[in-house]
Amino acid sequence: MAVTRFAPSPTGYLHIGGARTALFDLIWAKNTGGKYILRMEDTDQSRNSPTAAKQVMDDLSWLGIKWDEGPEIGGPAGPYFQSQRLDIYNKYIQRLLDAGKAYYCFDTAEELERMRKEASDRKQNFLYRRPAKFPTLADVEAAKAQGRDVVVRFCMPDDEIIVNDIVRGEVRFNGKDLSDFIIQKSDGFPTYHLACVVDDELMGITHVIRGQEHLMNTPGHIVMQQAFGFKTPVYAHLSVIVSEGGGKMSKRERAKVLKAAIKKAQGLDKEKLAAIGGITIAEIDEFLSGDAMPDTPAIDAMAGYLKIELPEINIVDFFKSGFLPETLVNFIALLGYSPPIDKEIMTLQEIIDTFDPTRFNKTNCLFDRKKLVAFNMEHIKMLPEEKLLSRYKDFLKEVNSPAAKADDLLLKKVLKACAGARTLAEIDHKSRFLFTADDKVEYDQKDVEKVLLKNDGEGLAMLALLKEKLAALDKISEESIENLLRGIAEQKQIGLGKVAQPLRVAICGTTISLPIFESIEMLGINATITRMERTINEYSKK
Ligand code: GLU
Repeated sequence: MAVTRFAPSPTGYLHIGGARTALFDLIWAKNTGGKYILRMEDTDQSRNSPTAAKQVMDDLSWLGIKWDEGPEIGGPAGPYFQSQRLDIYNKYIQRLLDAGKAYYCFDTAEELERMRKEASDRKQNFLYRRPAKFPTLADVEAAKAQGRDVVVRFCMPDDEIIVNDIVRGEVRFNGKDLSDFIIQKSDGFPTYHLACVVDDELMGITHVIRGQEHLMNTPGHIVMQQAFGFKTPVYAHLSVIVSEGGGKMSKRERAKVLKAAIKKAQGLDKEKLAAIGGITIAEIDEFLSGDAMPDTPAIDAMAGYLKIELPEINIVDFFKSGFLPETLVNFIALLGYSPPIDKEIMTLQEIIDTFDPTRFNKTNCLFDRKKLVAFNMEHIKMLPEEKLLSRYKDFLKEVNSPAAKADDLLLKKVLKACAGARTLAEIDHKSRFLFTADDKVEYDQKDVEKVLLKNDGEGLAMLALLKEKLAALDKISEESIENLLRGIAEQKQIGLGKVAQPLRVAICGTTISLPIFESIEMLGINATITRMERTINEYSKK
């Protein structure tokens, strides 16, 4: 029985790598009939925010990843926000200090910089040199009085440390190459290392699944577990996800694209941009000149203002692009993992039921967006009607679509007419004409030219004829509209397209739309005729 935990540092939206970790934590726990804990690692005062924690939880919930213990639901090992567990960490830090396995330090930034430089001059990695005699409490007080920052470092033993990793096998580290790392910062908060090790023990974690970037931290965690007399959990470090461009799928990519766009923008109104992002001009300058990254809503707002598309990295980006949570779960579960069954399109339950921890891959895994789209098409087809409707409504709300206000009956018709769509965004896009005022339909000029004006206004003439016939129909149904259009095509010995395309452009402004008969039926005959008249007036030679 595995007890796993997902332990995000809430710095922004949940991204694709974090979601994969969260998912395998859940899969592992559920496959073994175990427990899945959510723990917020929010001890970095400068980087973590409560809104980000909420956002991460919303994103997990949207994916259908439910935790058994954690924020909002509680549990026996709570609280589940590390920022609320300082007393616990202090107790453990004291224990290490008392045992001589940790010590105070109060080097200034300049002193540390000098040590780093000396190491690099010797062409060596910087390793913090442990003092022969550890500072006493009196020394600490004196240092504080001088205005120095005080931290606590853990004594790294010189021995070899072996990490038995499920994904990578045995990975050996030499304690001699590893620095005495900080376990308590000068603000009194523990570092991630200390809090993580203590909480994994207190929460009874048996399996730690996390990204490969944490492998370097694991030897330090193992020796700290040994120093405390804790059990060492099973480790699985999941392989790196790379984008099609070859880079790491990291949040920084979004900031990078935005940064480049701001730098390139001509005559940019920085004040306006800052206001749109809800940040100050100084913060924009800091962002442009360094590593500082505004939080995600600010990034999105500024990208919208600059009319640029940012790469999809966060779960919410995929939500907004019209992917189903079922698709993402299925797709993410195949990043760095090959299920033991000969099938790719799977539900979460199937993935859980067939989970085999020996089937993780070591090599980097490619984020293949085409495959994601293909998966989405399958999952849209597979979802029962009511479920798809509810997903679609969530999507419409998220992107502020005017269709969000439509009634269920109409949306169900839209979904049916869009069978075979690749994304929910595509469905929304194709059916926007139903939710646009008759006099606000925007015409695609290329389509107008091709379909209405070409050959001396052939399409417009067709539109005039159709308008009369449609107005004269006594019964409006998909069937009667189809009969009428087909009848005209037959009578004139022309393809159905020649009849239907002008009508399409008149009601949607473009030739990309839903099947024409359903479109008219859904739009209603009055609006259809109004739009046909408007089009005829707009483009007839005056
Ligand atoms: N807070 C760490 C992170 O977000 C968790 C790492 C771990 O799972 O131990 O990367």
